[in-house]
Amino acid sequence: TWKRVPLAPPDSIFKLTASYKDDPFPQKVNLGVGAYRDDDSKPWVLPVVKKANQILLEDPAIDHEYLPITGLPAFTAAAAKLILGADSPAIAEGRVTSVQTISGTGANHLGAAFLSKYYDFNGDRKVYLSDPTWVNHFAIFRNVGIEPLVYPYYDPKTIGLAFDELVTTLKRLPAKSVILLHACAHNPTGVDPTREQWGKICDVFLQKKHYAFFDCAYQGFASGDLDNDAWAVREFVRREVPLLVCQSFAKNAGLYGERVGALHLVAPSQEAATRVKSQLSVLVRSEISNPPAYGARIVSLILNNPELFEEWKRDIKTMASRIIEMRKELYRLLTEELKTPGSWDHIITQIGMFSFTGISPEQSQALTEKAHIYLTQNGRISMAGLNSHNIRYFAENLDKVVRG
Ligand code: PMP
Repeated sequence: TWKRVPLAPPDSIFKLTASYKDDPFPQKVNLGVGAYRDDDSKPWVLPVVKKANQILLEDPAIDHEYLPITGLPAFTAAAAKLILGADSPAIAEGRVTSVQTISGTGANHLGAAFLSKYYDFNGDRKVYLSDPTWVNHFAIFRNVGIEPLVYPYYDPKTIGLAFDELVTTLKRLPAKSVILLHACAHNPTGVDPTREQWGKICDVFLQKKHYAFFDCAYQGFASGDLDNDAWAVREFVRREVPLLVCQSFAKNAGLYGERVGALHLVAPSQEAATRVKSQLSVLVRSEISNPPAYGARIVSLILNNPELFEEWKRDIKTMASRIIEMRKELYRLLTEELKTPGSWDHIITQIGMFSFTGISPEQSQALTEKAHIYLTQNGRISMAGLNSHNIRYFAENLDKVVRG
């Protein structure tokens, strides 16, 4: 038995974290993982989450019964408002279907599984992903029989957006193509379109009747402001592009392991939304029966209580500001102190948790082998892994590998 099962390679990011943990070198630095760390390299439990936790602990009405198949209603309703806007006409018109998922990954999976079953692919079961993208997107779509292809996104020459190529390609694709867009804080590049560019991308979606598959894993992390980071999604909804949004609370609430997320699908009518929801329920029932309750209760408390909500916004600012500080300091060290060859403007223009440094796979490997600095081969660094204690060590070693 199992003779024909090939050995799969370990997941590269999880492998990177394991290598980092096994390394006894005292000054080792982990810039691989996409999780927020405080200035002492420690995971940060948000103060607002601690408060919500306490409230739950003391609530005698909390039990461990099953949630409904589509999740905790108070959570999904508030989560929809968070991403689509509290005053969203689509919500008011009852056109939004929201289902609780196993974090952002589960939302991507459920969205993909639903499209696989019900989207009119016209015989062409393909999804178009940005080049590059979060690597898991490929597996998620392949798992449900949709072939992932890529559209141009990142230009290594400018270390910025390949805007013209992106727009030309979207225009060339067959009408009604399914296209995945990162709502904000693009992973792995940290490069987002400007509002003007989003507007032009939206024009093409309307012309070509493309379907927008938004993935929103970092709301609040791009600018520190929840509404600002939801702008592109809301603009597409306003202009009536058919779409769905995958939402994760892993990063912005620091609830990584609790797996809190949602899938929101904006339908053309309330009646269509009801039918869609019924089929999403069928899918959820067969896959997980019903979602986990704990994390959703925490987020629901935070979203539905005005005081906690304000506190959460402050916590998000704390995280986003520390990351922005690290960007500024790294830029200063490279350009002013070390005078590292090359342009480093992208360190401060890129957005969110990640930065694409532009260094080669060989240089990334040299950082790991010579300086015990762990990062992915593509030169992506998690800014959250930098802090006041290790940033100089990192900058000096980056300077060394760049000079060769
Ligand atoms: N989408 C993107 C673009 C991501 O970066 C991530 C997290 N790395 C996710 C989705 C999903 O994360 P989670 O399942 O932990 O919410």
